[in-house]
Amino acid sequence: MPTIFTHAIVPLAAGLALGRARIPVPVIATGMALAMLPDADMVGFALGIDYSHPLGHRGASHSLLVAAIVAAFLTALFRPSNWKLVFAFLFFSTASHGLLDTLTNGGLGAGLFWPFDDTRIFAPFTPIRVSPLGMGFFSMRGIETLLSEFLWVWLPAIALLIIGRATIPNSGQIK
Ligand SMILES: [Zn+2]
Repeated sequence: MPTIFTHAIVPLAAGLALGRARIPVPVIATGMALAMLPDADMVGFALGIDYSHPLGHRGASHSLLVAAIVAAFLTALFRPSNWKLVFAFLFFSTASHGLLDTLTNGGLGAGLFWPFDDTRIFAPFTPIRVSPLGMGFFSMRGIETLLSEFLWVWLPAIALLIIGRATIPNSGQIK
């Protein structure tokens, strides 16, 4: 994974770019939580589930199907009038986690197409250094990880936010 809070920056930037009139703060906060949630599958290690198992780390929980189901469920809870956009936002928020994981240079790829295909997917280009676990985070490798995440996730997210605010009508207004 990229560092866990780096996953949350993607929905934050997307939500703020669309504007609070479309994506209210509770929906943005939900999107941020959803973007971090797939790595809860790491409990699988404690339960003895192998990394490469379909239900292992970066498996089913990182799939596009699970992202769609979770997004549909939460959209039904929020019952927004613009439900299509809210669903798309929550789906994007959740799916962005697995998609970002495919850009990392370590571990196994993400099981994006579970349950139809258990192949673990990597993007053709893997510029994000995989986040070291535990105390390894406070090391030279930890710093290199943060730098690569800043370059490949934070900067594009900030650029999207600025472009969105500049081009999407009423993105700065509250209804
Ligand atoms: Zn992950």
